[in-house]
Amino acid sequence: MDETLLTVRQRLSQIISLRKNETDWFETDGDKMVYKGNPYYLNLAGEDEGIRKQLLPTVEELTFLEIESADPLFEKMHSPLPRMVHRYSNRVAILVTDRCSVHCRHCFRRSFTGTGHADLTMAECDRMIAYIKIHPEIQEVLLTGGDPLTLENVPLLDILSRFRSVRDNLIIRLATRIPAVLPLRIDFDLARELEKMSPLWIVMQFNHPSELTDESRTALRLLRQAGIPMVNQAVLLRGVNDNSDTLASLFQGLMAQGVKPYYLFQGDLARGTSHFRVPLRRGWQIMDELRQKVSGLALPTYAVDLPGGGGKIPLTRSLLLREDEKGYVFINTDKREYTYPREEV
Ligand code: SF4
Repeated sequence: MDETLLTVRQRLSQIISLRKNETDWFETDGDKMVYKGNPYYLNLAGEDEGIRKQLLPTVEELTFLEIESADPLFEKMHSPLPRMVHRYSNRVAILVTDRCSVHCRHCFRRSFTGTGHADLTMAECDRMIAYIKIHPEIQEVLLTGGDPLTLENVPLLDILSRFRSVRDNLIIRLATRIPAVLPLRIDFDLARELEKMSPLWIVMQFNHPSELTDESRTALRLLRQAGIPMVNQAVLLRGVNDNSDTLASLFQGLMAQGVKPYYLFQGDLARGTSHFRVPLRRGWQIMDELRQKVSGLALPTYAVDLPGGGGKIPLTRSLLLREDEKGYVFINTDKREYTYPREEV
């Protein structure tokens, strides 16, 4: 067994009583996304099962299915430059860092997360800016990773300012899980600096109502008072939020903080995440129930990134062509057919 993992497991055991399927993960060799947590989120995990499942690895992660992939969205195929993904003509995603405050066990970018890549350099940043300048069709830049808010303020604001200076109407989206997993990172000064980067949207990921603590509400209030628009992209996760009461509570709670629930994502086919995926049929049922429980404004779009690089589509029945022996066949915006597996449990 890996000595480092043994030390981490021993330290964790002093804080939280580990279960067998959790200790088994530490004791089994395999292709693993490193464990990473922080005291704030670990404390929440001790109190709530939905948080615990997102934070603590279990041996189920070491089950790899044939339908799963290390790059489920085929991002490498759409990378004109290292760390840049240009999948849709009007926007690019930039992997600013591979660092996160917490390694979410459902992460679809787990083959990049926490793998020891250096942060985006200013030279790389400038090459990306040159690319954006010769592609006027690009209207939005999504800064993602990893989590860009794990950067110190100086490099973070440097990167943001460089992209901000490309064009006044270039929209910057900053994707972060920090408000949910380490909200004390967001203070008055950071919120004021981010305000200067307008038009900037913060796209966050809250998956469970227990992530909406006093600390996270304070972080969201600071961002709201700085006038920064905020939306949430939750992931539908088995054993975490796969029922309409939990999700209704999450979405109402976000709305009360000025955060619009934007997407509810069906799980991607990332390696070792089958235990988190919810069957599509159950996802549709949850959405039907949610329509009775929350207003249209609080209802996100249920969506999926189609396996095989088909891109993002809303999971509406109008895009479902048929069911066959492999699963559900959808049509994407390029009028191509892609199958999402049935995976009933
Ligand atoms: S914060 Fe995002 S990139 Fe980081 S582990 Fe969680 S889901 Fe993955």
